[in-house]
Amino acid sequence: MKIKKGDKVRIITGEYKSVEGKVLKAFPKQNKVIVEKVNFIKKHQRPTQQSQSGGIIEKEAPIDASNLCLICPKCGKPSKPRIKILKDKSRVRYCSKCGDMI
Ligand SMILES: [Zn+2]
Repeated sequence: MKIKKGDKVRIITGEYKSVEGKVLKAFPKQNKVIVEKVNFIKKHQRPTQQSQSGGIIEKEAPIDASNLCLICPKCGKPSKPRIKILKDKSRVRYCSKCGDMI
C-alpha cells in the first residue's frame, strides 16, 4: 500500500467524494485507512471515569484505500505515487506529477 499515516488524501468515490483530509492511521494488511473527518460512525460508549457522561460518540471508521488518492504536498495535485529504489536500496515514493519525493 502506498498511503501512509500523515498523508493528505482526497476521497474519489462514495458518500465522501472530493473530501480532503489527513490519514490518521493506515492498515496496510487490510488495505484500509482512517481519514480525518471521513466516514464517521456512531459508537455507543459507556460512562467511564474519564468521561462521566458516556452516550454516543462519533468516530472515524476505516475506509478502503482504493477509494482515495494521494494529494502531493509539493504540487498540491492528486497524485499516484510511484516507488523508486535508490542506490542504497531504500524505497522512496515520488509524485507522478511533479517528480518530487513524498
Ligand atoms: Zn507533486
